[in-house]
Parts: sequence; structure tokens; C-alpha cells
Amino acid sequence: MNKDTGLRNRGRERGDVDDRRGAAEGFSNTKLENISKYSFDPKAAEKNIENMIGAVQIPLGFAGPVLINGEHAKGEFIVPMATTEGALVASVSRGMSVITASGGASVRIFRDAMTRAPVFRVNGISHAADAIDWISKNKKKMDAAVKGTTSHGKLISADAFPNGRSLFVRLSFETGDAMGMNMVTIASEAVCRLIEKETDAVLVSVSGNMCTDKKPAWINAIEGRGKTVVAEALISGGIVGTKLHASAESIVETNIRKNLIGSSMAGSMGHNAHAANMAAALYIATGQDPAQVVEASLSMTVCESIGDDLYISVRMPSVEVGTVGGGTKLPCQSEALSMIGCLGSGKAKKLAEIVAVTVLAGELSTLAAQASGQLGKAHKELGR
Ligand code: NAP
Repeated sequence: MNKDTGLRNRGRERGDVDDRRGAAEGFSNTKLENISKYSFDPKAAEKNIENMIGAVQIPLGFAGPVLINGEHAKGEFIVPMATTEGALVASVSRGMSVITASGGASVRIFRDAMTRAPVFRVNGISHAADAIDWISKNKKKMDAAVKGTTSHGKLISADAFPNGRSLFVRLSFETGDAMGMNMVTIASEAVCRLIEKETDAVLVSVSGNMCTDKKPAWINAIEGRGKTVVAEALISGGIVGTKLHASAESIVETNIRKNLIGSSMAGSMGHNAHAANMAAALYIATGQDPAQVVEASLSMTVCESIGDDLYISVRMPSVEVGTVGGGTKLPCQSEALSMIGCLGSGKAKKLAEIVAVTVLAGELSTLAAQASGQLGKAHKELGR
């Protein structure tokens, strides 16, 4: 790379991007004709990428409409999904049409807290105990430190996990309508400086991996990270038969043997059919951090038969989404958020409810396809 391209890696003018792409083409001996075509001003992405050379386009479709009876999402929605997996949007749409015909899905958020867990070095367990004592008695001082870094973020709790000469402190924050990882990382650093000053514990890393960000972890499945959301629907036996070509009983059996027993036998932390699929498509469409699909995949799907009817629910302990900040302000992603009325302040909980219902619809359709032996056929017809 020459000095005018690779080194000017923060140049945001379209010309800078073109120059840099030219250097990348030369270096890799390729022609990046399609990567060069995109509609947005590169300046819009200045906080989202370095060394920008263009954009990759992902096909966008919509699933739905789906009727949602949430606390924040109410009414019918068509849901934007960006994917390259043929059959996914069709399958989710089928699930949504079944849910809508059955009176809609209910959904609630049970917890909302983004976490960062710094790790400190202490002299031993009595030093750890002293530091924990200070932390437990000085929430107000830590609140003030947080306040100096953010107007929307608030410290909820600081949970200590001592281990020999390591002390982990899992800090939980309200983050308003932001997913909040930048916000809570900056706020956590301020809290850490205070803890260091007051306790002589030495900060080793602001992220000690008990957060846990972008890695599968039971702490997120149990305690939650971001929003803990549960969605449910009751599908009448008649609709299960006519629209899903299965019975409630066969879907319940498939769910138990596959999502519960099979997942346990495999040591899977996700007890679901493909929650990551719906989360990834919706996260990419709406400018969420796609790496946090890892946490979305910790979901559990439960099915019960009630008479001839099918009850289905999905518990998503870790839906990390925002409607401000991050990738949400990019023009295409903003438009996708607008499709579901989720752009800007006051909308993050609504978005989380829509995520959970979209996952519920995908789970329902895929379980039914497997219960009736239709999964391979659908992919053969639509995805190949
Ligand atoms: P951000 O774009 O860094 O910041 C969003 C800011 O918007 C907030 O800090 C807040 O400012 C402001 N804001 C305005 N209206 C708001 C409202 N209604 N609710 C909440 N905030 C509002 O976004 P972020 O969500 O903190 O971080 C997301 C980004 O972090 C993504 O790009 C993601 O990829 C990246 N990320 C970072 C890390 C990390 O370790 N730093 C890890 C994973 C992902 P005030 O704080 O001043 O109130």
C-alpha cells in the first residue's frame, strides 16, 4: 500500500475510498467493480469502519406480516431480514402467518442490563474481600463516576466474583436505546479508576470475559445480558394441521427430542432450532452488531400441547440491540429500522420484542417442517 492510500486510513471522502480501493485492487490483483457501488456517503460510516474500500451488498427481504401483542411492539409488522440463505425468509413468513392467524404472539422483556466485567489483580483473598466491601458500600461514588461519562447510561449493580489473586466485578448498566457496549466500556473504565484509587486493586483489563461479549457463556444464559425477552403463541390444532401439515403432538415431540435432549447431548448452549438465523438476518438489516448473534443463539424453545393446540415459547436471555448508535444510523439500516417503527430514541425495547417474535416464528416453522419431514424439500425447492 502506498502512502496516499493505506496510510490515510481514516480518509472519509469518496475519493479517499476510491484511492484506497484502487490500492487494494493493485495489491490483490483484483477488480472490485461491485464493491465500488454503494448509495451512502462514506462519511456516514466514519465511526463504523476503518480502511473503507466500498460496501458488500446482502439481499434484503421481509417476513410477515406478523401480529404482535407486546408491551412495546403492538400491531402488525413486516420484518426486514438480510440473508443469503434461500428458504429462510419464506419459512419465517410461514411461521408469522400461522402466529397471526392464531391471534398473534405475546412478548415481554423481563430484564434489561448491559454488562462489562473488569478483572483486577489483588494481593490475595483478604485484599479481595476488602475491595468487595468498598464496592458494596460505595454505589453512589461509582454512580457519580458513571455520570461523568454518559447522560443515558446508569449503573444498576456491581457483582463481585473473587478467585485467588483475581477479582472480577460484573457491572450492569441501563443503556437507554443504545445497545451500549461503547457506552458501558467507557463508563466501566471510570468506575475502575475509582476502584483502583480507593482499594489498591490493580486493573488488568476492563473486560475480564465475565461480561461476556461475543462468546457463548452460561452467565449470559442465566443472568441475561442486554434484554431478556420471552415470546409465546398458542396455535389452534386446526391451524397446526392445515398450515403446518403437522400435529401439535408431533411438534412437541420434535422439540423435546431435538431442541432439548439433542442439544443437551451435544453440549449445545442453545436449546433451539436456529434462533441465530433470524437474529443474524434482522441484526444485519437493522445495523446491530452481528457478532452478538452469539448471545442470541443462547435461546431456548419450549413446546407444549394443550389439548389439540400447540403452545410455543422462546426465551432469549441476551438480546443486545439498540435503535441509536453503532450501525443503526447508516442510511440503509435506518430505513430498515423505519420499516418496523424502530428508528431512534424510545424504540429499543420495541425492537427487542420484534426480534423475539421473529425468532419464535422461525422456530415454529422449522420445527413443523422437521416434524412433517419437509425441511429438505423446502431447501431443495427454495435454496438450491
Ligand atoms: P455508540 O454509538 O458508541 O454511542 C451511542 C450514544 O448515543 C450513547 O452513548 C448516548 O450518549 C447517545 N444517545 C443518544 N440518545 C440516546 C438514547 N435515547 N439512549 C441511549 N443513548 C443515547 O453506541 P453504543 O451502543 O454505546 O455501542 C455500540 C457500538 O459498540 C457498536 O458499533 C458495536 O459494534 C460496538 N462495540 C463496542 C465494544 C467495546 O468494547 N467498546 C464491544 C462490542 C461492540 P451518552 O452516553 O453521552 O448519553
